[in-house]
Amino acid sequence: MEPGKKEFFRKLLTEQLEELLSEAVKTLSGMTSSKENFPDPTDRAALESDRNFMLRIRDRERKLIGKIREALARIDTDSYGICESCGEEISEERLKARPVTTLCIECKTKQEEVEKSRGF
Ligand SMILES: [Zn+2]
Repeated sequence: MEPGKKEFFRKLLTEQLEELLSEAVKTLSGMTSSKENFPDPTDRAALESDRNFMLRIRDRERKLIGKIREALARIDTDSYGICESCGEEISEERLKARPVTTLCIECKTKQEEVEKSRGF
């Protein structure tokens, strides 16, 4: 992937990650009755380093945060945008719609068909 495109997706993913983390902070703030026990909600870096933080946020958010971090790691190792099933490049359109994807549309469609036939 070209450096310019890599930066585009890095920015996109970083923004999504920040948004998710701030949402998670809000969720956690709402859950906490005593403010004294809770660090400054704007101090995201400190929260993020708290291992309990990841355990306490919602499952769906936690999974997506994990996927975004993996995608960012793939950008760093130059494997971003490559289908992990067939090794072909994933179309830019698909990456823009779903930046955390690891499968090209053909492989994803096949995977969904298999899942459907298994009754998922
Ligand atoms: Zn593929």
